[in-house]
Amino acid sequence: MQLLDSREFGRRTAAGRPCGHYEVSLYYGLEFDCACGKAHEFKPWMEVLSELPLFKFVVGCPGGRHLTVIKARWSREDDVRQLVSELGTELPEKRASLTGIEFQAGLLEAKTGRPWSLEETEAFMKQQQSQVDKRRQT
Ligand SMILES: [Zn+2]
Repeated sequence: MQLLDSREFGRRTAAGRPCGHYEVSLYYGLEFDCACGKAHEFKPWMEVLSELPLFKFVVGCPGGRHLTVIKARWSREDDVRQLVSELGTELPEKRASLTGIEFQAGLLEAKTGRPWSLEETEAFMKQQQSQVDKRRQT
């Protein structure tokens, strides 16, 4: 597994889409190597943050500070399922919601093609959050 800083990790996973398209339940009970250095069993309550092309997805460590890109493999001839860890990162802080601010900055950089400061990213996230709150209220 390649370990990246959280900003670079955000850039590399910016192509992700919201979850729910992949049948990740096929892989429950298998172990994967987490960016935190331990192996975890993949469980239904684990946080899958986004889905990437080629049946890869981003999983949050139960400890809250690490993210791992996992490629799910299923060899149909011998019916062997595997979770292969490809990329990992450690967030600077335990993430409050979905991800850390540096990770978000990396995502925004990849999406917009320009650098984002952490202040700017934070302001953008707050603005988005308040829009979500408004929608919830109405
Ligand atoms: Zn972990």
